[in-house]
Amino acid sequence: MQLTYLGTAASECFPALFCHCEYCQEARKLGGRNIRTRSQALVNDDLLIDLPADTYWHFIQNGIEGDTIRYLLITHAHEDHFYLDDLHLRFPPYAHDMRTQTLQVYCPKTVYDLFGGRFPINVEVHLLEPFKTVTFGTYRVTPLPARHMPQAEAFIYLIEGEKTMLYAHDTGYFFEDVFAYIEQSGVRLDMISMDCTNVLIPLPDDGGHMGFPNIKRVIDRLRGMKAVTDHTVVYINHFSHNGNPLQSFLEEQATPYGWQVAYDGCRVQF
Ligand SMILES: [Zn+2]
Ligand SMILES: [Zn+2]
Ligand SMILES: [Zn+2]
Repeated sequence: MQLTYLGTAASECFPALFCHCEYCQEARKLGGRNIRTRSQALVNDDLLIDLPADTYWHFIQNGIEGDTIRYLLITHAHEDHFYLDDLHLRFPPYAHDMRTQTLQVYCPKTVYDLFGGRFPINVEVHLLEPFKTVTFGTYRVTPLPARHMPQAEAFIYLIEGEKTMLYAHDTGYFFEDVFAYIEQSGVRLDMISMDCTNVLIPLPDDGGHMGFPNIKRVIDRLRGMKAVTDHTVVYINHFSHNGNPLQSFLEEQATPYGWQVAYDGCRVQF
């Protein structure tokens, strides 16, 4: 199974759009893996996670032909994860000869409601419910509630294919019923991708995101229930400029924990 990180920043990107802080200045100077666009990932070559406004550039940079994407999972309704306008480009004269005629979109209610009952052409939208597994293609996907948007639904995703992964962005420290679900299901994770928006800046459990201390506590809990083992590949991802997401700094911090640091274009085989 393969996960490609297409974008690895929080909403403001890195360097941030209008920012002149020391980290952003350094990132502009260094370039390379220090340039981070808005959050998006691709599982194998047919399951896309999230649709930020950077999707077009992600496809160009990674040699992805958009019409071959068959499934689209949306985590939540924040604009850096879901840019609805781009879904309205799946019919002539904007698109011809598509190899996937109908794109299957799976999303929480807050995203579903954004369509206002007017669904794009050649797009089929499926409403997901927390803890209710859906099956499509070679995947079994279980939406688990993210602790991210007060009073609005956001999901992290348990994705089972040839292997098993948990894509956990954007979320604070996991809800107790999420830990309980993972424990009861007996799932063994081959890979986990953790929200690291704040990096080393302390954040309360209900802060909507995580940093190193929160991630450590989630991983320890999951290790205690054997969902995470020594075999599990742990990645951190979704960084804000406030925490200094220069790649070399993050790698220095993450190495003692045995975690890997995502960057735009990073391909993970597991
Ligand atoms: Zn985000
Ligand atoms: Zn900045
Ligand atoms: Zn968000």
